[in-house]
Amino acid sequence: MSAEEFRQYGHQLIDWIADLFANIGDFPVFPDVQPGDILSKLPKAPPVKGEPMGEILADVDRVIMPGMTHWNHPRFFAYFTSSGSAPGVLGELLSAAFNVNGMLWQSCPSATELEQATLGWLRQMLELPSEYFGIIYDGGSNSTFHAIAAAREQFAELEIRERGLAGRSDVPKLRLYTSDQGHSSIDKAAIALGLGLDSVRRVAVNDQYQMNPQALEEAIAEDRSVGVLPFCVVATVGSTSCTSIDPVAAIADISERECLWLHVDAAHGGAAAVVPEMRYVLDGCERADSIVVNPHKWLFVPLDLSVLYTRKPEVLRRAFSLVPEYLRTIPGVEAVNYMDYGIPLGRRFRALKLWFVLRYFGVEGITARIREHLRLARQFAKWVDDHPEFERLAPVPLSTVCFRAHWPGMDDDDLLNHFNERLMQAINHTGEAFLSHTKISGRFTLRLVVSHLWTSEAHVARVWAVIQRHFQLLRDG
Ligand SMILES: *Cc1c(COP(=O)(O)O)cnc(C)c1O
Repeated sequence: MSAEEFRQYGHQLIDWIADLFANIGDFPVFPDVQPGDILSKLPKAPPVKGEPMGEILADVDRVIMPGMTHWNHPRFFAYFTSSGSAPGVLGELLSAAFNVNGMLWQSCPSATELEQATLGWLRQMLELPSEYFGIIYDGGSNSTFHAIAAAREQFAELEIRERGLAGRSDVPKLRLYTSDQGHSSIDKAAIALGLGLDSVRRVAVNDQYQMNPQALEEAIAEDRSVGVLPFCVVATVGSTSCTSIDPVAAIADISERECLWLHVDAAHGGAAAVVPEMRYVLDGCERADSIVVNPHKWLFVPLDLSVLYTRKPEVLRRAFSLVPEYLRTIPGVEAVNYMDYGIPLGRRFRALKLWFVLRYFGVEGITARIREHLRLARQFAKWVDDHPEFERLAPVPLSTVCFRAHWPGMDDDDLLNHFNERLMQAINHTGEAFLSHTKISGRFTLRLVVSHLWTSEAHVARVWAVIQRHFQLLRDG
């Protein structure tokens, strides 16, 4: 592609994106398609001859757009939202253009050192201790995987790195603990690390869905009494279902006493700590061995970018460092080689988009937006609380509201589950808003998450109107 052609289509595409961003609220959030609809519009075989860029771009409108769930829509309230903010998109574009592989310091000094600098900034924004070392992975699941691998490596005398776990009678059963609200990535890490799903022990929660420290202590004591070796606790700040916040300080007391690695999963919730009056959500995390925060969730950085901080980078490094001859660097050069701290060798220049976002918005700008999300969620929670035919199903410590329709005289939980599921589908089907669900104490629960950059009070009010309208239609119809 000639420079002239690149310039022409580059400008055209940026214009197209600018229009998309300007008008995104007019699109349906959720597409009106069935499985296979998009696939059927795509050729079965690859193009033999190259095609003009203009045709490829035209097919974005014709083929791709009709199947888009618009995560950047201001009325996308599902899962944990992610904002493809404009400065973040520009950073992503530039990192594609540079196309560096930041595996080693010398494979791109700027990539390595910008990662160090931006993660230092973010660490300060979260008021985490200065000795924390940060590293970027693609997602929170991967960050947690690496934390649990480091936790396992702490028992160097077991020589798991060298000899593995299979076929060994000299290694006790290892156990890690998380609450029954802990994220599935913890189980996946146990699968991938050869620990097995039954190495994950789910600890009971209180009526606010927070881990019960006493139940944790009892579980550890019970395991030790039968020869199981506890090695790790994963506390959650902002659980996936209802954003509950575990009592990290009390859990840290236990993990220190029991010599367990304490990992904190704050993939979504950690961002709230940027707001001074919310800093308490990370209370106790300064004592953690590691903590994960995902800027691609609530910090306006486009997917994907997750950060793992650890105070024991040497253990993480010991778990993963393998340096083949062709990657050896000049002796005596004091530099971080990020490939030493995990599975990925090739690493995208992700810090660039984080840098763009942090600089463009500034700490004040980010703080103000997160604070507004918290306010909007409390507002929505109040509407739910004040409505006789709806009820809230969990506290709202952050900006996620868990609720359902539940009207007077109707107390059959099976019927309510079925009704609320249909209600969610009806709302999502309109394309006016997109909600997701969870099950809390067996109840089908609607989740409304306010964390997109472009979501304002008008959008939250509109989804509330849509919810009420469809509630009436379904109940009366
Ligand atoms: C989103 C999330 C994860 C997983 O993060 P990915 O980036 O999707 O892999 C883990 N834990 C919690 C609490 C989360 O909110």
